[in-house]
Amino acid sequence: MLKDWRLMFEESAQGIYRIVLPLPDNPLKSLNAYLIRGERRHLLVDTGFNRRECRDALFPALDQLGVRAGEFDVFVTHLHADHSGLAADLAAAPGTIAYASAWDGETINKLTAGPAYWLDLLNDMAKHGCEPALLHDLQTNHPGIRFGPSGKTHFTVAREGDVLRYGQHPLLVLSTPGHTPDHLVLYEAERGLLFSGDLILGDITPNIPRWRTMPDALGTYLESLDKVEKLDISLTLPGHRSLVRDTKKRIGELRAHHGRRLAEIRSILTAGGEMTAAAVAREMTWSMRGTPWKDFPSPQKWFAINEALAHLDHLTVLGEAVREEKNGFVLFSLP
Ligand SMILES: [Zn+2]
Repeated sequence: MLKDWRLMFEESAQGIYRIVLPLPDNPLKSLNAYLIRGERRHLLVDTGFNRRECRDALFPALDQLGVRAGEFDVFVTHLHADHSGLAADLAAAPGTIAYASAWDGETINKLTAGPAYWLDLLNDMAKHGCEPALLHDLQTNHPGIRFGPSGKTHFTVAREGDVLRYGQHPLLVLSTPGHTPDHLVLYEAERGLLFSGDLILGDITPNIPRWRTMPDALGTYLESLDKVEKLDISLTLPGHRSLVRDTKKRIGELRAHHGRRLAEIRSILTAGGEMTAAAVAREMTWSMRGTPWKDFPSPQKWFAINEALAHLDHLTVLGEAVREEKNGFVLFSLP
């Protein structure tokens, strides 16, 4: 267990080091970056936020491992700033390759380029019941805005089926969309190791938000779980918290969680009639230790409303909910 921040890395499997980066004031608590030691070059999987606390944990750990800037490449599993925040800085070292998927990599750079993309993304949620005050607050408090990369990252596109050669065994890139539209994982078949990003987490459930480019993000996520479940996995190395020893069991728990969520939303719609995603989110149970909805920090409200929307989209695709636009709002109801 890595509770002491002074112990900044552990060897998770031979030649693979988990470096725990603190995410202060964030319910995720910490990010797992992984350093895969190679003969000539090493690979760092995910980077942490672009903030001092992450740099202060990452660089001393790399130093202790004897790895210097320019000696390792970077693989970003997906666009979220806790995974990609330091990509631009790290990729600036001469000779460094920064891998990301096509869509997520391009979107990281759009989000970094200025407020236009963010404003469009935030304002689009008004029709789902997000209040103007919330959207205004998110313009300064969304972690993606506060801790995203310092500038444009020149990414090398990684795709399904690519093989990366670092360390003892080849790493296969697999496409696992859902948590983000172009989320990637790395699979090392020889030892059955899965670097799962935020596809599979052990102690917490990955947030599945709505994406405008995906008609059914939750359905797509569940298909990605089906795909990964077919692999022979002895150890999952997730983006946050504990390593996962029994991946099949954990996938079953994640599926069951979303099944319960869908049932909860159906009963909320039974009682509430026509509702926006924000109205549904207010009625759902969230693990915020008894905090009433009005006291949720803005980013938590944002993630909750987006999660409600992904579930409502899934119910709509299944024919178990109806979506209508009325007076500028998107309303969901039972058929
Ligand atoms: Zn994520």
